[in-house]
Amino acid sequence: MENCLFCKIAAGEIPSRKAYEDEIVLAFHDIAPQAPVHVLIIPQRHIMDAYHLEKGDAALLFHMFEVANKLAAELGIAEKGFRIVTNIGEDGGQSVPHLHLHLLGGRSLQWPPG
Ligand code: AMP
Repeated sequence: MENCLFCKIAAGEIPSRKAYEDEIVLAFHDIAPQAPVHVLIIPQRHIMDAYHLEKGDAALLFHMFEVANKLAAELGIAEKGFRIVTNIGEDGGQSVPHLHLHLLGGRSLQWPPG
């Protein structure tokens, strides 16, 4: 989608520190990490947010979690635990309107979030 930051990252038009890529998803390190491990997992195809997922996206959604779990293991945070978050819309704290999972770990995360 034109003018979408994460579509531009997926297309390689804006550089990112890639953690994983295949034809369905891309994972890259967050530019402003909120934890020692902070990776974003996005679909290569533009989907605005989790509210706009459709039944046909079931396999994609599973794959996004599959990649997040694989990276959690690879980046050494699986044993102690980690968090997967997706923000939706203004009140949800979403700043980039392209579906993404935040994979956060490497420190004790607090709850509830602010
Ligand atoms: P959200 O606020 O949930 O939409 O998350 C968007 C995330 O994208 C934030 O954590 C930002 O730090 C991150 N971000 C914004 N621009 C970039 C970029 N160019 N490369 C990597 N991460 C980015």
